[in-house]
Amino acid sequence: MSELRFNVVESAFYKKAATVDIPEGRPCDYFGKYVFGREQMFHYLSADTYASLIDVIDNGAELDRKVADEVAEGMHRWAAEFGVTHYTHWFQPLTEGTAEKHDSFFDPNGKGGLIEEFSGKLLVQQEPDASSFPNGGIRNTFEARGYSAWDPSSPVFVVDDTLCIPTIFIAYTGEALDYKAPLLRALSAVNKAATDVCHYFNPEVKKVLAYLGWEQEYFLVDEGLYAARPDLLMTGRTLMGHEASKNQQLEDHYFGAIPQRVAAFMKDLEIQALQLGIPVKTRHNEVAPNQFELAPVFEECNLAVDHNMLIMSLMRNVARNHGFRVLLHEKPFKGVNGSGKHNNWSLGTDTGILLMSPGKTAEENLRFITFVVNTLMAVYHHNGLIKASIMSADNAHRLGANEAPPAIISSFLGSQLSEVLKHLAENDSDDVISLSGKQEMKLDIPQIPELMIDNTDRNRTSPFAFTGNRFEFRAVGSSANCASAMIALNTAVADHLLTFKKDVDTLISSGEQKMKAIVKVIRRYIKECAPICFDGNGYSDEWKEEAARRGLDCETSCPVIFDNYLKPESISMFENTGVMNLKELKARNEVKWEIYTKKIQIEARVLGDLAMNHIIPVATEYQSKLIDNVHKMMDIYTLEVADKLSVENKRLIEEIAEHTIYITGHVNAMIEARKSANKISDEREKAIAYHDTIAPMLEQIRYHIDKLELIVDNRMWPLPKYRELLFIR
Ligand code: ADP
Ligand code: MG
Repeated sequence: MSELRFNVVESAFYKKAATVDIPEGRPCDYFGKYVFGREQMFHYLSADTYASLIDVIDNGAELDRKVADEVAEGMHRWAAEFGVTHYTHWFQPLTEGTAEKHDSFFDPNGKGGLIEEFSGKLLVQQEPDASSFPNGGIRNTFEARGYSAWDPSSPVFVVDDTLCIPTIFIAYTGEALDYKAPLLRALSAVNKAATDVCHYFNPEVKKVLAYLGWEQEYFLVDEGLYAARPDLLMTGRTLMGHEASKNQQLEDHYFGAIPQRVAAFMKDLEIQALQLGIPVKTRHNEVAPNQFELAPVFEECNLAVDHNMLIMSLMRNVARNHGFRVLLHEKPFKGVNGSGKHNNWSLGTDTGILLMSPGKTAEENLRFITFVVNTLMAVYHHNGLIKASIMSADNAHRLGANEAPPAIISSFLGSQLSEVLKHLAENDSDDVISLSGKQEMKLDIPQIPELMIDNTDRNRTSPFAFTGNRFEFRAVGSSANCASAMIALNTAVADHLLTFKKDVDTLISSGEQKMKAIVKVIRRYIKECAPICFDGNGYSDEWKEEAARRGLDCETSCPVIFDNYLKPESISMFENTGVMNLKELKARNEVKWEIYTKKIQIEARVLGDLAMNHIIPVATEYQSKLIDNVHKMMDIYTLEVADKLSVENKRLIEEIAEHTIYITGHVNAMIEARKSANKISDEREKAIAYHDTIAPMLEQIRYHIDKLELIVDNRMWPLPKYRELLFIR
């Protein structure tokens, strides 16, 4: 057993960087090569079809059958040039991965040969036999079909021999069974609500887009070492392993020189990402050893989500070609930082205004403040829900620990913006506003006309930080589908903008001047949402107490946090904006609880197995060696001398016994606890039982295994240790 460990460690140590196939030309030459983007559409479609398709993409126009057929034909011709033989509807079920079922373009022609064809019908809609995807009871297998339907706003792309068509996935009865459908609804809701609010300032605005720039953190582990860790293989994280003597305390990894094997992986990944039209930009070492980050330039939210899903699967494949496994789990290693996926979010108009950026004139700055304050109100009123949107069994290990955003949602604004808001809220008198010239409004706030919100004023402990021209939602987990967070955030903001519009219009209709009405409402909002603003240390215990006093959601139990989706204010928010109905919300929660339970269940089984058939046998064997030694001492020395010389070994024998007795007892207790939890039929109650009784046992058992790791002869220890997993590449 331990021989395996030594072999894989040695082989990992001597591995060299793999060679990377570099395409001809510069990145701008091969960017988007495998994407049916506007340039390709223009080239492969007739002028009329192109115009109709652009109208569908940009303005949500209906797609008629004839256009669909022509688009499919052009797409097919384009894809065939890459030797593509198959197509698939590519969708995002509630599993947090993507799903695809490939069909070939070829059908028998009735004359003993094959005919190649791709119609609009096949492009637009499919009926995948998807009864085994999580659906929370919406689709009983006997009852309903599921449909996947083309999302023209995210371009199709080619991977290997397959044309991939981004689609939504919905039940026969119309309920969403995926992430994309509600995301598109949320983006449409925020577009509508924000456009209406923009009209106070810029009547020419036709559309507001939500933007997302994600930063993907991940770990790389040599694949030999990975294969020797059944826990990593089965659960994505190490369920045992004592901290290495050195981990991240010297802070020498962050932004350090990128190791050669890793650099080759990154280069390969980036080339493939660029060819798929993903505008990757930044790469660097992260804080923990063997932890890295990749970030593209931000894009329209729906596309950014698809690109993130795509890059996660690309990373898995490319890593294998470099003898690595990529770990996207939020907390693969205890004692070093976990991985997140910061979601940089903002709103912008079709006319090019970034709504979260300060402008040059007073009016532009009032618009900026309007959108910032409405966002704060949305996050304040739905802070529990926003937290629920990023919560999972895996992310729970990260949140609230000392290196990740705390499990309480608050917003950091920085001193300048805080000052501006404070000043605006506190000056209740009307002369704060003086109108000059042509309706131009001047706020009597020195900072406002040339607002330069300083980006350097940063707070790493805040889960939702304002960073100059956007909010950075840092609590999102590294393996998550960003859509979950983006659905909650965009819907909350949309819903709040509707309220804002109503409040302002009420004042206007009672005779108030428009800009004054806006300022009045904003003033009230700034005071109301004050509890969500916190610029201090989010990790401190004082903040936990303070946050509870402020009425923020401080719940830490993952399954209970999911309840936020079914609170009356959440239901009315989702229904009001048309993003999800009660049936969908209930179904999704069932899925969340079920997945939570299953994750803990799998971890408990894996840990139980490893403890009993990897750890206990080795610990006992080593213990026997010690006992043997004690006996032999007695053979050659007098009892008195032997006693003296064996003191340490005897102590170790007892210590090992204590640990093994604890482990065996608790593995059995954990089995019993699972048995009784499994009898619970209500998914929520079952998940809570798993959280309350089984999850803590994982930690307790681990503690004793990690102690044994320090005692047992290194040559016998069966699993690669942290110092090997984290420092060899
Ligand atoms: P950090 O210093 O926070 O680690 P990075 O450069 O790694 O920053 O990533 C910042 C991310 O934020 C990038 O994806 C970037 O494109 C994105 N971003 C920048 N401006 C905006 C914006 N206005 N809206 C949304 N995302 C943005
Ligand atoms: Mg960042």
